[in-house]
Amino acid sequence: MMKTDFDAIVIGAGFGGVYALHKLRNELGLTVRVFEKGGGVGGTWYWNRYPGAMSDVDGHVYKYSFDKELLQDWEWSTRYASQAENLAYLHAVVERHNLIGDIQFDTEIESAAYDERRAAWTVADSRGARFTARYLVTALGPHSSRNFPDIAGLDRFEGTVVHTGAWPDGLSIAGRRVGVIGTGSTGTQFVCAAAQTTAHLTVFQRTPQYVVPSGDRAVAAEEVAAIRAGYDGIWEQIHDSRVGCGFAESDVPAMSVSAEERHRVFQEAWDAGNGFHFMFGTFGDIAVDPDANAAAADFIRAKIREIVRDPETARRLTPTELFAKRPVCNQGYYESFNRDNVRLVSLRETPVVEAVPRGLLTADGAEHDLDVLVFATGFDAIVGGYRRMTIRGRAGLDLAARWKDGARSYLGVSVSGFPNLFLVFGPHSPFSNLLPSIETQVDWITELIAAAEGSGRTSVEATRAAEDAWVSTCEQASAQTLLPRVQSWIFGGNAPGERRTTLFYFPGLGPFRAKLREVAAAGYQGYSFD
Ligand code: NAP
Repeated sequence: MMKTDFDAIVIGAGFGGVYALHKLRNELGLTVRVFEKGGGVGGTWYWNRYPGAMSDVDGHVYKYSFDKELLQDWEWSTRYASQAENLAYLHAVVERHNLIGDIQFDTEIESAAYDERRAAWTVADSRGARFTARYLVTALGPHSSRNFPDIAGLDRFEGTVVHTGAWPDGLSIAGRRVGVIGTGSTGTQFVCAAAQTTAHLTVFQRTPQYVVPSGDRAVAAEEVAAIRAGYDGIWEQIHDSRVGCGFAESDVPAMSVSAEERHRVFQEAWDAGNGFHFMFGTFGDIAVDPDANAAAADFIRAKIREIVRDPETARRLTPTELFAKRPVCNQGYYESFNRDNVRLVSLRETPVVEAVPRGLLTADGAEHDLDVLVFATGFDAIVGGYRRMTIRGRAGLDLAARWKDGARSYLGVSVSGFPNLFLVFGPHSPFSNLLPSIETQVDWITELIAAAEGSGRTSVEATRAAEDAWVSTCEQASAQTLLPRVQSWIFGGNAPGERRTTLFYFPGLGPFRAKLREVAAAGYQGYSFD
């Protein structure tokens, strides 16, 4: 008979879930089952197979730090890791740690309920099968629930409709007429790749983005060797830093130097490439001081004017709002608009009226003929995965109801009223390179479970007071930045019906890790073990 009772159940086999399986099974010796909706491991990297998909954090730090042998053996030849490379890396981890046998694919979990009497979770999949475990780890992914804007008459469109977050294998856009809606990290990456191969690419842009070069390039063998030799120091620096991207963050205020010096620093960062570095490595206050922000924004606007040949296209591509979204970088975004096969449509000036059999009709009466319409319209971030599921804690308390006025957590990991539930990268996690934050949180979850097991207690739960204090810390930190002043997924509100709320701990990874150490040293302050 199939086993249905485990010590721990993990939902999701992306970077978070795979590491949770390794820690809980291989280190704590628990019986663990991972349930994954997709047909393979990878999470984001399983689903996002669109042309141009890659991580825009340097590839050598978009890795787990725990598997030191693999870090020494892993080969790479370009600065950033493509979707295929990230997936291959995760496959290698799964194989090296013998994890595949405890992952059940093609299984969507629809509900989870906590039984207080038995101190155990029961989860049910979409086929009605039920499984039980004392601990439930939700590694649902911050970008797993896709946003599809409503377009009137879309069902009449005779071409192919696809979301970048569910790109089917075998869909080729080479030589075809393609339209893409959305110009975030995904849309701009897609544009750079698609511009090179499509017969015609129409970019439907709502809000212009600040995009800086990624500086992707070939990496020489000597550089790889130097990184391998220095990995311990690299991780140490990352773990103490804010955004965890492997570069030294600046503490210099932008306005403390001359205009010439500012320009030199921005130019140097532009030439070297990387979005997080441009925002956090040039000066220390771009995300907090309006003048510093304006200086960075002006620099990028001048670049757009310089690069884009058609002044009208350049005008439409130029952002007017603050430079305060999750930074975006890639190779040749603005240059793409100098190509004869690429056309920009500003949805602010000429919104889509409806879909027609041959494409999209915009308010200026233009019919944009398309073979493929690509939605690069983002995700119901962080909380979307939770909204698709019913999760009930103590006394039947519904997580969605609990979060109706904004998601809440303690340390991005625990929710009061939901004992033995552990979120990987839940709301109020550090704003940083995802990998080191995921690893930090899974280590923390493992430590909490070990503490519960070691003390013979059956449940561990965040207190309401600790949760309230953490949410308030996150809100206060966020209010000190410029980031809430623009509309983007990092504050939610980009998905229908979702409230705008603080979803991150902006002080970042280093301060987050320091907080965890403080909480542990105080006997897991803010947690109750029953
Ligand atoms: P996103 O940043 O939320 O961007 C969505 C885009 O779709 C925006 O341009 C948005 O316009 C547009 N959009 C949404 N609804 C629309 C509508 N109804 N009509 C027209 N346009 C609409 O989503 P994303 O680009 O998928 O990126 C999400 C996050 O995933 C990133 O910030 C990043 O953290 C991660 N990501 C990372 C990488 C990487 O390189 N590592 C690559 C891709 C994604 P508005 O700006 O006007 O809302």
